[in-house]
Amino acid sequence: MSSHLDEPRPFRYDAEVDPGEKRHIDYEVGETYLGKPVEIPVTIINGEHPGPRLFLSAAIHGDEVNGVKVMQEVADRYDPAQLHGTIVVAHVLNVPGYIAQQRYLPIYDQDINRTFPGTEHGSTASRMAKVIYDRFVSRCDFGLDFHTSTRNRMTVFHARADMEDEGVRRLVEQTGIPLTIAGAGASGMMRRVATEAGTPIVTVEMGEANRFQPLLIDLGLQAVENVLAANEMYPDAEPVYPEFTKVLRSSDEKRWIRADHGGLVEMKWGPLPIVDEGETICVVSDHYKREQHVVTAPFDGFLVGILANPRVLPGHPLVHLVSITEDDREAIRDTYERVGFLRHGTFHWMGRTDPDRLARLLAADDRRGTDGGD
Ligand SMILES: [Zn+2]
Repeated sequence: MSSHLDEPRPFRYDAEVDPGEKRHIDYEVGETYLGKPVEIPVTIINGEHPGPRLFLSAAIHGDEVNGVKVMQEVADRYDPAQLHGTIVVAHVLNVPGYIAQQRYLPIYDQDINRTFPGTEHGSTASRMAKVIYDRFVSRCDFGLDFHTSTRNRMTVFHARADMEDEGVRRLVEQTGIPLTIAGAGASGMMRRVATEAGTPIVTVEMGEANRFQPLLIDLGLQAVENVLAANEMYPDAEPVYPEFTKVLRSSDEKRWIRADHGGLVEMKWGPLPIVDEGETICVVSDHYKREQHVVTAPFDGFLVGILANPRVLPGHPLVHLVSITEDDREAIRDTYERVGFLRHGTFHWMGRTDPDRLARLLAADDRRGTDGGD
């Protein structure tokens, strides 16, 4: 890493941001049909003091907006006079998708997050990726990329990270995110390409598309604050770490459980997103309730991703299940009881509820609400 030099440095993208300056820029990454620039909103907070460079980004998938709120708050919150090093905040990476409120780049449905590091003469997505990568990502020492589930599903708060990479491992620890799913990521993913090139990036997954979910946004902001504190970038930072963290290895079994029948879905798991082998996850029924198809867990598992749209066709994903051990189960339970799982926000159906546990969860949520929690 090129961090911790003696003197503060200007941040160069193709212009320069001086030490002590916070600058909001609209940076051109492409053109519209009308020949007007497509610009991504970027805030560069360049600290008065020397230190490492942190890259933060959101909405590389245009409908994943929890992270957009994290970016807005980070850009507003941190003062360059206090900052050691630089924070580069890329508020919205996929601006055409963001405008269309959709995941991919419109018209040809290209996924920018499969085209890194990009090429000058490639597809539209690849050209955008190249500008983003060259101008901002590659100039930073490490980064966090904020995602949510795709629309009509939700995902619990967790990190995705290449835990084989030492820099990534350290960064995951610094974030204080309780759960991590280990894996290098698909080829062309920003985090994978950047990590391989020496800028470790961790994906932060949280919640649903097209929503602001306040608890998750707070957790995301705390992860940023924790990274600033761990790297001595912000003296006033107040880190908060969970008592428990867990890495789910890629060798652990994980599977999307899919519907085999069209119909209406009623979730039966809950209140915590953990199921035992053979336990009913949900029931898919026809409109007359003549046919009811019970979907059970093929192994003891943690529901990392959950369908949020109750209408399904055969083949539609219902839940993303990751296998867990008995130890994992206890740890996950402790974590969510502490975090207050219900506050994850837009939980449409909680399914079966144990009144005692529910009362405890609500109490945990209330405590968070009154004592300021994090
Ligand atoms: Zn995403």
